[in-house]
Amino acid sequence: MVEFYIADSNDIKKGRTTDIYFMRTVEVLKKDGKDKVHVDMEITTNKLPYGFSWGILAGVNEVIALLKDHKLDLYIMREGTLFKPRDDYGVRMPIGIISGPYGEFAIYETPLLGLLCQASGVATYSAHIRFNASDKVLLSFGARRMHPAITPLIDYAAYIAGFDGISAVISAEKLGVKPTGTMPHALIIIYGDQKKAWKAFDKYVDEDVPRIALIDTFSDEKTEALLAAEALGSRLYGVRLDTPGSRRGDIGEVIREVRWELDIRGYKNVKIFLSGGVDLDEVKRLRDAPVDGFGIGTSVSNARTIDFALDIVAKEGKPIAKRGKYSGIKNVYRCPRCYSFKVVTWDKATDKKIKCDKCGSDMERLLIKVIEDGKIIIKPPKPSETREYVLKQLEDIRRLGWSD
Ligand SMILES: [Zn+2]
Repeated sequence: MVEFYIADSNDIKKGRTTDIYFMRTVEVLKKDGKDKVHVDMEITTNKLPYGFSWGILAGVNEVIALLKDHKLDLYIMREGTLFKPRDDYGVRMPIGIISGPYGEFAIYETPLLGLLCQASGVATYSAHIRFNASDKVLLSFGARRMHPAITPLIDYAAYIAGFDGISAVISAEKLGVKPTGTMPHALIIIYGDQKKAWKAFDKYVDEDVPRIALIDTFSDEKTEALLAAEALGSRLYGVRLDTPGSRRGDIGEVIREVRWELDIRGYKNVKIFLSGGVDLDEVKRLRDAPVDGFGIGTSVSNARTIDFALDIVAKEGKPIAKRGKYSGIKNVYRCPRCYSFKVVTWDKATDKKIKCDKCGSDMERLLIKVIEDGKIIIKPPKPSETREYVLKQLEDIRRLGWSD
């Protein structure tokens, strides 16, 4: 049978992507009347990929969609929150707590972690690119490297983490933004002549689409950049270098040369974009190069996931945990001024006020109740609001002198 190998929303909501051992566990517990045992389970991670010291949480909205309508409470950090695996005192930080009868949500461990691990992995890597790219434009071009079923997820995670645009049509629709793109080599090859292709693009494509000419198809980037500038004149918004790996050499030097040649001929307004194999390291290398933006694909869509785990920390309200995990219900506080984190034991009935040990400011509580007895009790933020929140945090840690 020829078909797409995907689980649809209905499969996910019913828990059909779970690991079989959870189903067997629930079956056993039910037969002995233990499926109603109340547990608190914590979501934590031991470390972040790429040696990063901080991450960006994403996937919260999908977790809410998964767990709503079940008899449980969910406490979790706000979507887009900058977190660390451990607080300033070395205690592993819960990024969320599920509280309810174990049998009610046991089977959702697999999909829940998958939703958080992948979205947070893409958001974290994207945020580190944003953090290192100063004010350069960042475009997510990675749809083609992953299964199309998750295209909206990848673009969403990159966008909330500070990317400026995304290329896939469906993602743009869901985010309420305009899709961004230039032109493929195929267009130029079919015309067989760069100038004819660029001019045809200019003739037929909507006026509000910036004219960005692809300039590495047949000749040297410097030559084609000037050809494009001559062909489109003041209508040329920018040029894109998608230089093949075999011709790259020192791409920063190529970009500087293109900039120079455009400038001395009066094309100072023409922007330069780079795509093709761009990753975090390349963005760092080119931080001071005269490149105005990057189209980034594989490194973002294939970003390593964050290994979140879900573990019992209390049973019937009493602290208990497996070896290697800290028992008891906890909350996490963050200082809005110096970004110190502190994990504290927590009585969910009371909201402690805590002062930062380092600077004395009032700390903010990060675990917020979002589902109560199956009902959503918050208004989920729009992607643009989450993006603003992420950018604000990145600005704060930049001011504090943090690195990756
Ligand atoms: Zn502080």
